[in-house]
Amino acid sequence: MVEAATFPLVTPLGRSKATFNCEWLRHSVAIARHFAAPLNQVLCATGYSMIEGSCLCGNVTYKITSKISDVVHCHCVTCRKAHGSAFSSVASVPIDGFELKGRDQLNRYESSSGKHRFFCKTCGTQVYAKRDKKSNIILRLGSLDTPIPSDELAHTWVSHSVEWFDIDGDLPKYDKGMRGT
Ligand SMILES: [Zn+2]
Ligand SMILES: [Zn+2]
Repeated sequence: MVEAATFPLVTPLGRSKATFNCEWLRHSVAIARHFAAPLNQVLCATGYSMIEGSCLCGNVTYKITSKISDVVHCHCVTCRKAHGSAFSSVASVPIDGFELKGRDQLNRYESSSGKHRFFCKTCGTQVYAKRDKKSNIILRLGSLDTPIPSDELAHTWVSHSVEWFDIDGDLPKYDKGMRGT
């Protein structure tokens, strides 16, 4: 086990949340490499691993106080339609560790029998999905405001994948838009 005191963590005081989260993650990655420790373990040990998220308009927010699984990119046609994108990136969170605010601001859609997709009534952000009788929710990771200590695990339902997205593609990457804005 790596002790928290071992890490000279950058202080969050006086910094914006986004800047801090970015520094926290970069710092943690460096520490994990230095100690050859799993990143997940380092993030938890630093004590700054509160995971938060929100919808686009901010009416719905959440905190995660438990573990979160690794990341799956789902290409199924219902995820594509619900998210309006080539695939959705998701991870599992125990329901006990999911603190939701603005529950009355959510609408739900039963996309397959017993599976409900919850989204903001105002802005349409997909926040999570839940299957009846399951003790976990499937978080929609695009709604996150903070880093998560998860690795990418898999692409699923690639049989539904669109022909205009190349899973092995090597397109140019830009920090901002193609025109720099
Ligand atoms: Zn919203
Ligand atoms: Zn899916």
